Amino acid sequence: MVKQVIIPKVPQYLEEPLKEGIRMGTEFVYEKYGKETFTDCVLLVRPDARNGCYYSNLSPHPKFETNPVAIISCRTHLYLYEKKRLGKYKQGLCVGYEICCATCVVHELTHHAQFKRDRSSGELETTANEIEFIRKHHPYWYDMLMIEEPKNSKKMERKKFSSQVSPKRKRILELYSKINELDQAILKAEKSKLYTLRWEGKVETLHSIQRIVQKYKDDVNEIRNEN
Ligand SMILES: [Zn+2]
Repeated sequence: MVKQVIIPKVPQYLEEPLKEGIRMGTEFVYEKYGKETFTDCVLLVRPDARNGCYYSNLSPHPKFETNPVAIISCRTHLYLYEKKRLGKYKQGLCVGYEICCATCVVHELTHHAQFKRDRSSGELETTANEIEFIRKHHPYWYDMLMIEEPKNSKKMERKKFSSQVSPKRKRILELYSKINELDQAILKAEKSKLYTLRWEGKVETLHSIQRIVQKYKDDVNEIRNEN
């Protein structure tokens, strides 16, 4: 489950479609990636946002303190990334608030799952998930959307986005989570003008913490270069 869903005050006609969109969108990604993948992620609905957006804690949202955060826009027309491998589809279908909200949730939370898995952030997987969501839950719109189905859907099948994490990845992710933790701690310390931090039981200066971060980053590169 996501950590928190924030919907600002919106006109009543918007509230229901947004809530339903969020329910459907989250259900889809929970089933695909597991509920536990999203427990640290906040969903923030922004009616004034032009697009959805995802901010991991490595690239935090400048104004929003809680990261990671997925920004959900409120639109009525559906636009998808052009991906040849997914076939040919129409842009700008007027599917309404609910479906736009749901696909936006699917898209941005897929970025979160990618981030948790291996920090890649391709738009093929996000777009494939949006299309799959529409095919599954809104066949009427799916038929309207697809001009041409993908030619080599077998290839797509083979390129299944695995949710399995290799041991090597696991080590990298552990290091990343330490780097993350330290990055956030440094930010906090700098904000409150502190020059030391406690790390693994010892008090360290920010300077030596930065060296530790660098060491972790070097370790990541080393693991990457192993065969
Ligand atoms: Zn994206």
